[in-house]
Amino acid sequence: MKVQTENQTLIQKDKEHLWHSMSRFNANASPMIASQGEGSWFKDMEGNKYLDGVSGLWCLNLGHGRKEIAQAAYDQMVNISYFPLTLSHVPAIELSAKLSSLLKASYTSYFSNSGSEANEVAFKIARQYQVQNGNPGKYKFISRYRAYHGSTMGALSATAQANRKDKYGPSAPGFLHVPPPYSYRSTFESDLAAAEYIREVITWEGPDTVAGVILEPFISGGGVLIPSKEYLTRVAEICKENDVLLIVDEVVSGFGRTGEMFGFMHSEGVQPDIVTMAKGLTSGYFPLGATAVQSYIYEKFKEEGDKQHFRHVSTFGGHPAACAVALKNIEIIEEEKIVERVSQLGSTILSELRDLESLNCVGEVRGIGFLFGIELVADKQTKEPAADELLGKIIAVCKEKGLIIGRNGDTIPGYQNVLILAPPLSSTEEDLRFLVDTVKTVIEEHD
Ligand code: PLP
Repeated sequence: MKVQTENQTLIQKDKEHLWHSMSRFNANASPMIASQGEGSWFKDMEGNKYLDGVSGLWCLNLGHGRKEIAQAAYDQMVNISYFPLTLSHVPAIELSAKLSSLLKASYTSYFSNSGSEANEVAFKIARQYQVQNGNPGKYKFISRYRAYHGSTMGALSATAQANRKDKYGPSAPGFLHVPPPYSYRSTFESDLAAAEYIREVITWEGPDTVAGVILEPFISGGGVLIPSKEYLTRVAEICKENDVLLIVDEVVSGFGRTGEMFGFMHSEGVQPDIVTMAKGLTSGYFPLGATAVQSYIYEKFKEEGDKQHFRHVSTFGGHPAACAVALKNIEIIEEEKIVERVSQLGSTILSELRDLESLNCVGEVRGIGFLFGIELVADKQTKEPAADELLGKIIAVCKEKGLIIGRNGDTIPGYQNVLILAPPLSSTEEDLRFLVDTVKTVIEEHD
């Protein structure tokens, strides 16, 4: 009885004082309040147990309760509790060097607190680099429709999902969008044609006006779009030919999510000029963003003069505890061979999920590593997207059965029709069995 009253009080305080991300106000619904987590599972205040099939917000890659990670944060906090990166500290130095080695070229990293910030930093660095490299007119950025690159004004301007921008317009000037490769619904004949369209936009905008192209290797929140490996290789070539920086947003795809350490590593000959990271960088245990730039970019900020340096500061960016957590997280990923595991198990899960394509309500099942999208349709022939209610129902029934799954972001009305699975990379085979069996059963029941 006492526990019930305490829970009611918490719910009341939550409703009155806590503003939830991306959530519609619903006076009748109670928030899901987490009370305890272990591995890929968590319990709510009522003691109900759930498998987290979306790793929180696609970030809890090593699952809950890794004591080594908590210890790394504790040890750092009782030693150097805070230190700004206008100066330096050991975990940031070690982490920047580690990222460079993981990215397999010489990179220098600027640390922030989130994926949005990492992308903001990338835009500012790219524009300043172009100016200091003798191309002051190069200021535009090209991103793809359906992409999500963050919530802050620059990152939101690169985001190309109409619903997310509604009432926050206009976008910052200089952000252009092109259609993504998306064979299921594409206007293009092939993924390479989608890449070539970027060339065309650069040509017509004027190569001397374009600073960079920003893209995720695999659009995640926009509906899990998996292009052929050649797409990114071609985009990289087009960028090089036009002296345009290739900015790869690895906020979701980094640190093993797709079965490679970074998503761009699936494509031959791609070495991005700038890589942005967050989420899996700390497995969600601490906020941290990173913007890694190749050394030839950093060189342009080293020249003498009082206006050549990067005049951007973040009080908490690269917090010592966050960097210590990231280092421990990467150590575990390497020691437990998480990337190899995701690659192998991911293909098995994908082929099992593909059985769903025989159902009337499933248009296409896509995936790579531990990132899966199940596109639901009302009509298989016309590909009319499934109604909102069907996705809502499937998600609710999965939850009743103890499984949390997601759906694609608020793209455009009627097109929020992709169910998304992105379980923790450390999920046991038993966890994954439960995930696949539950999703398949529930979708079959609703066909
Ligand atoms: N980039 C991508 C691809 C994302 O999915 C997200 C968040 O979901 C972001 C950037 C923004 O990250 P954050 O929420 O940490 O600001």
